[in-house]
Amino acid sequence: MSYDVVIIGTGPAGYVCAIKCAQLGLKTAVVEKEETFGGTCLNIGCIPSKALLYASEMFAEAEHALPALGVNVGKPKLDLKAMMAHKDTTVDANVKGVEFLFKKNKIDTFRGTGRIVSAGKVAVTGEDGKETEVEAKSIVIATGSDVAGIPGVEVKFDEKVIVSSTGALSFSKVPATMVVVGGGVIGLELGSVWARLGAKVTVVEFLDTILGGMDGEVARQFQRMLAKQGLEFRLGAKVTAVNKVKKGASVTFEPVKGGNAETIDADVVLVATGRRAYSDRLGLKEAGVALDERGRVAVDKHYQTNVPGIYAIGDVIAGPMLAHKGEDEGVALAEMLAGQAGHVNYDVIPSVVYTSPEVASVGKTEEELKKAGVDYKVGKFPFTANGRARAMLHTDGFVKILADKATDRVLGVHIVGFGAGEMIHEAAVLMEFGGASEDLARTCHAHPTMSEAVKEAALATFFKPIHI
Ligand SMILES: Cc1cc2nc3c(=O)[nH]c(=O)nc-3n(C[C@H](O)[C@H](O)[C@H](O)COP(=O)(O)OP(=O)(O)OC[C@H]3O[C@@H](n4cnc5c(N)ncnc54)[C@H](O)[C@@H]3O)c2cc1C
Repeated sequence: MSYDVVIIGTGPAGYVCAIKCAQLGLKTAVVEKEETFGGTCLNIGCIPSKALLYASEMFAEAEHALPALGVNVGKPKLDLKAMMAHKDTTVDANVKGVEFLFKKNKIDTFRGTGRIVSAGKVAVTGEDGKETEVEAKSIVIATGSDVAGIPGVEVKFDEKVIVSSTGALSFSKVPATMVVVGGGVIGLELGSVWARLGAKVTVVEFLDTILGGMDGEVARQFQRMLAKQGLEFRLGAKVTAVNKVKKGASVTFEPVKGGNAETIDADVVLVATGRRAYSDRLGLKEAGVALDERGRVAVDKHYQTNVPGIYAIGDVIAGPMLAHKGEDEGVALAEMLAGQAGHVNYDVIPSVVYTSPEVASVGKTEEELKKAGVDYKVGKFPFTANGRARAMLHTDGFVKILADKATDRVLGVHIVGFGAGEMIHEAAVLMEFGGASEDLARTCHAHPTMSEAVKEAALATFFKPIHI
């Protein structure tokens, strides 16, 4: 069995790369060790979490938002089984979609664990222990990432009481109390799901801020919004132990700045302290493939490892661990393997927190610009002054645009508010074309839309917004 390209792993990076390779006329195969295609994102990540986020948001809206719109449905009753069934159906449709696309594009699939024997050769071990050898001119490592624990703390995940994100997607009942270790995107998304469904959620975070790395002003305002929804925060707190106790689990933490330790008991503890690149059992050492200082596969600008003919993309290499970043790398690499010019603009990769309201950002934060000594200007516009937001009772949040003071070029856009995850893309397109905030402000925006707040924030960077 001989191919132009064999890709190990069928997450967003791997499956998209495979489809693009096939579309460009390369004879392509994929290797997957799990029962279904689609990787973390489709099976236990982006897709199931968004199904639960949406369903739990509807549950909360029915109780808290609909009466103010004159829609009285009474106190909503939770059918958690049906909600989980919705999540499972969504996952199933998506993973079957990938299987369909593989067939449509005539991509061969090998089930089993892939191991690189040498450049040009991959051994696939199936469930029955049988090994199949696959030859390919190019090998692509797209093996993704796995849950990282808490540095220096032994965490015994049982995925029922002490859970990773995977367990937190499948509780059989709503926990009365939940501690989330880690105030990053995954912790806050899953914490919000269970808080909306009735859990008392406490987030314990090492840093002094949630969403470390996001624009500070946005993160602070967002924390206040989540606190209004009932989430409690213990920031600047270093977790030193997570243990199972008689009824649930306990989390012990102490102030990072020094002070007394404290222990909180909860029905469940979600440890969401990040993910690590996953390249176990791949035979990288034997094949001579080098890793970087953080255990990720080291690649050059063309995604090639130090071994010619072996490439890597997605969560397993450096960069933000985001599905769309991996997908774009998959496309760029396929183009390069087909002799074309592939490129990913790492300065314009949007990121979204799918809570209610959403948080979305693209480009530089104010802190990054300050640190780099860039002379910048800021334009802001609140959703309280937006007609559509008022009509929908979604007035929480604002748009913040950062632009170069001398050239007006947009350097970063940060939105917290309803629909932020959709609105961010007009900023991404503008930035991809090197646009200025005046370009954005002079683009006619339909009225009434939430997006008008983006236009107004752009106006605010160089003159005055109209509606405030
Ligand atoms: C709860 C949660 C929510 C998330 N939500 C979002 C979101 O909303 N938006 C977003 O952009 N990102 C989100 N992410 C992150 C996103 O899931 C990852 O960035 C993305 O899945 C990475 O894609 P990948 O293809 O690099 O790797 P993965 O999706 O991890 O896929 C790797 C695949 O390789 C397979 N594999 C590994 N080793 C081998 C081997 N030796 N042989 C054969 N197969 C192998 C694995 O089984 C897996 O299928 C979320 C993650 C989690 C955990």
